[in-house]
Amino acid sequence: MEKLIACCGLNCAACDARIATINNDDELRKTTADKWRVNYNSPDITPAMINCTGCREEGIKFNYCEMCEIRKCVKMKGFDTCGDCREMDTCSIVSAVHKYVPEAITNLRSLN
Ligand code: SF4
Ligand code: SF4
Repeated sequence: MEKLIACCGLNCAACDARIATINNDDELRKTTADKWRVNYNSPDITPAMINCTGCREEGIKFNYCEMCEIRKCVKMKGFDTCGDCREMDTCSIVSAVHKYVPEAITNLRSLN
């Protein structure tokens, strides 16, 4: 279960992309793509892109998460998550997530 907390602290277990993937649910892929195109101002997101097993799980990733700078930084530094990093409270990279989803910080603290 812990591994379903993403590098940034988001909860992959509650993510519609992961839920659609593990249930092979094409209807949820479509509604998720519709929602994310608007929410993330990303008109190129298609239902076929909605496939992800989770940030820290083995398997396919949603391509935005695959390319995520936070995830890359965590891996480069050899951490499991940003919660292992002393710079987290002042980090301008992960703050892009934490300012909108403060519970991600709580999720990371719960891992330690
Ligand atoms: S890594 Fe995958 S499951 Fe986690 S938030 Fe990103 S898209 Fe959702
Ligand atoms: S520098 Fe920022 S993004 Fe990189 S591991 Fe530390 S907190 Fe995470």
